[in-house]
Amino acid sequence: MAEDYYSLLGVARNATDAEIKAAYRKLAMKHHPDRNPGNKESEAKFRTINGAYEALSDAKKRKMYDQYGEAGVNQGAGGFGGQGGPGFEGFGQGVDVNEVFGDLFENLFGGQGGGRQGGGGRRQARGNDLKYETTISLEDAFKGVQLPLHFQRVESCGTCRGSGGKAGSGVKRCTQCRGAGRVQVSQGFFAMSQTCPRCGGEGSIVEDPCKDCKGQGRVRKEAELKVKIPPGIYHGATLRISDEGEAGPRGAQPGDLYLEIHLKPDPRFERHEDDLSVNAHIDIATASLGGTTTVPTIDGEPVTVKITHATQHGATLRVREKGMPKLHGRGRGDLLVHVRVDVPRELTARQKELLEEFQKTLQDEPSGKGDAGVFGRIFGKD
Ligand SMILES: [Zn+2]
Ligand SMILES: [Zn+2]
Repeated sequence: MAEDYYSLLGVARNATDAEIKAAYRKLAMKHHPDRNPGNKESEAKFRTINGAYEALSDAKKRKMYDQYGEAGVNQGAGGFGGQGGPGFEGFGQGVDVNEVFGDLFENLFGGQGGGRQGGGGRRQARGNDLKYETTISLEDAFKGVQLPLHFQRVESCGTCRGSGGKAGSGVKRCTQCRGAGRVQVSQGFFAMSQTCPRCGGEGSIVEDPCKDCKGQGRVRKEAELKVKIPPGIYHGATLRISDEGEAGPRGAQPGDLYLEIHLKPDPRFERHEDDLSVNAHIDIATASLGGTTTVPTIDGEPVTVKITHATQHGATLRVREKGMPKLHGRGRGDLLVHVRVDVPRELTARQKELLEEFQKTLQDEPSGKGDAGVFGRIFGKD
């Protein structure tokens, strides 16, 4: 079982945004991979706290996490490529590290990376994340669905295999940074490192650029992808599909694809978290005497519901386990049946006769004292 996000960051469940940010900042500084080179434990810890911070720093995700736990904020885990745990692949993905730290990482860590494309360099080299929205039906959200996606994205150039150079052409080391991708700049106390302006941080320059991608190593293409939407998904949930964003420059790590799910309103059912509700129309005789009625379910198989005698208009009946599957656990929500008692719009002569007779019995009721009848009792007259 994954550790609780709040305890991971060492904050209380009611911590303010500022407290969460401060706690994250402190931990991220401590466990940043550039400060702990080659330390797998720190690296794992860094990912975990990034995952926790990503969830808790976003008001919407935090609410989902409080309500549904990890499944509420990170449905991608397990479903796509099997990334488990609360952490995210890579560093700072999903979290805008710059927003939290400003230039701090640049200043503190950038210079220590040496020839390695560490810290800031790594982030810049990664491909862009992509975000798309898609709308699915309630039935698809119930069953789960394999969704074919067609979208535009920047992919690695097939002609030069992402190298950016013509076949046979090499890449030469950038002369300004000598292949490091970063250059040192002294500023007061800090020796800062900056992205090399000549090679854009890549450390190399293509000798003879590929025509198809103009040396970029990347081209815009129509991408096709099948995305698995887990059963029970909520309206507004965002799935993260690792490495399906845009290709990174010259073979660098690609970005991620974020898919926001919207649910089409259903004509029959209303959803309240894992429960569904449906209206059942019954006639006045069934409402008075009792009987049964049939309501649709999201499974497709209608279900028969027992109506007890004297069921009132507006009553709610509950059919267990006929709602939506629980995204974060086992079982299903319930189906709430809202009873609507229909008064007939037209009556046959026989029905009219019977109702008139019925009406007379109400007036004749021994306790009703003449025409006050039932209404007299309801309104408290005598
Ligand atoms: Zn190319
Ligand atoms: Zn350079």
